[in-house]
Amino acid sequence: MSGFTEEQLSVREAISKICSNYPDEYWMEHDQTGEYPHELHRALAKDGWIGIALPEDLGGAGLGISEATMMLHTISESGAGIAGAQSIHANVYATQPVAKFATPEQRQRMLPKLIAGETRVCFGVTEPNTGLETLKLKTTARREGDFYRISGQKIWISSAQVATKMVLLARTTPLEDLKRPSEGLSLFFIDFDKTAPGLELKTIKKMGGRAIDANEVFFDNYKIPADTLIGKEGQGFKIVLHGMNAERCLLAGEALGLGYAALSRAAKYAKDREVFGRPIGMNQGIQHPLASAYMHLEAAKLATYHAARLYDQSTHDKSITQNAVGLACNSAKYLAAEAAFTACERAVLSHGGMGYAQEFHVERYLRECFVPRIAPVSREMIMNYVAEKALGLPRSY
Ligand SMILES: Cc1cc2nc3c(=O)[nH]c(=O)nc-3n(C[C@H](O)[C@H](O)[C@H](O)COP(=O)(O)OP(=O)(O)OC[C@H]3O[C@@H](n4cnc5c(N)ncnc54)[C@H](O)[C@@H]3O)c2cc1C
Repeated sequence: MSGFTEEQLSVREAISKICSNYPDEYWMEHDQTGEYPHELHRALAKDGWIGIALPEDLGGAGLGISEATMMLHTISESGAGIAGAQSIHANVYATQPVAKFATPEQRQRMLPKLIAGETRVCFGVTEPNTGLETLKLKTTARREGDFYRISGQKIWISSAQVATKMVLLARTTPLEDLKRPSEGLSLFFIDFDKTAPGLELKTIKKMGGRAIDANEVFFDNYKIPADTLIGKEGQGFKIVLHGMNAERCLLAGEALGLGYAALSRAAKYAKDREVFGRPIGMNQGIQHPLASAYMHLEAAKLATYHAARLYDQSTHDKSITQNAVGLACNSAKYLAAEAAFTACERAVLSHGGMGYAQEFHVERYLRECFVPRIAPVSREMIMNYVAEKALGLPRSY
C-alpha cells in the first residue's frame, strides 16, 4: 500500500474497520442462503460512504473515483468479494452521470436520499437480444405528454429486487430513423416500483455472488415522469459512458481485492500445511505460481490506479482526452480481472483438496472472479477496443 495518497489510505483504514464486522463466514453464509447483505449497505451509508464520489453540496464526500476504487478494492479484499462490492457499487458508478448531467433540481431530488441510504439504485443496460451491442438496445421509452412509457426487457440486472430506483438506458428514436446510431438512446433515473403496473422481475440463478440478486426485468408500458430524463434526449449513450468508465475502475479494484484475498489465504495455507515433513510452501512448485500471481496483481494495481487518476483528472484537465481515459479504464479492468483469476485459481490449487471445500473460502473467490472477466464488458470487447483505439487497427465489430 505504499505510494497511495493520504485520502486513499484513510478510506482504506475506515472501510477495513467497517468490513471487519462482516468476516468471511458472513459472506459464505450469505452465498449459501442467497440472503442480501443489507447490513453492509446500511453501515456504509450510515458513515457516508455511498456518496464517496458525489458532490459535497448533495451530502457526498466530494472525493473521486481514485478513492472509490480504493473503497471497493478494500471491501472485496476483506473477504466480501465481488458480492460485497456489488451490494453498493452501482450506487457509486451509475450516479456519476446523474451528478454530472442532471439539472440542479434533479440532482437535489435524486441523489441526497441515495447517499443517505434511503434509496438504492440498480443499473439497467444489458438486454437479452442485443448483448454487448449496446447501440442496438431495443427497450423503448415512448413520450406521452409529461410521461414516457417504457417497454422491453433487460437482463442481468443486479440488486433489482432491493433497488427502489433504476438508472435506465432506453431507446427514444428508432434505429432506422437515425443518421448516427449513437444518438437514439436516452438516460433516465426512474422510480423502480415493483408494485406499479408494467414492471416484472424474474431472478436468475447464478454461479457465484449469490447474496446479490440478478434479474430479468420486463417493462410493459411502464409509466415514468418525463422529468426523469437525464441530459438531452438522444444523448444517453454519451452520458452513460461517463459512468461506464468509472464502473471499469471500480470493477478493477474489486478484482484486485479478491485476488489479494485469495493470495493471502494461499500463502497462509502454504505455510501451515505440512506434507512430506515440511510446509508445502517450501516447494518452489507452490511458491513460484503464487509469486507470479502477486506480481501480476501488483502490475494490475498500477494500471488500475493510473486509470482512476486519469478519470478524476480528466474532469478538470481538458488535455486528457476521453479516448485516453477509456483506454486506461478498459485496460485496467482487463488486467485486474485476469490477475484476479490467476490468483484465485492458484489459491484453490495450493489448498489441494481443501481448495474445493467451502470452509476455506477460496472456491467462493474463484466462482466470483469470473464476474469482472465477463462484466461490464467482456475480455474480447476490450481487446477489440484497444486494437482499434490504441493501435489504429480496423474496427472488427
Ligand atoms: C453477475 C453479473 C452481473 C451483471 N450485472 C449487470 C447489471 O447490473 N446491469 C447490466 O446492465 N448488466 C449487468 N450484467 C451484464 C453484463 O454487463 C453482460 O453480461 C456483459 O456485458 C456481456 O454481455 P452478454 O452477456 O450479452 O454477452 P454477449 O454479447 O452475448 O457475448 C457473448 C460472448 O461473445 C463475445 N463476443 C461478442 N461479440 C464479439 C466480437 N465482435 N468479437 C469478439 N467477441 C465477441 C463476448 O466477448 C462474449 O464472450 C451483469 C452480468 C453478470 C454476469
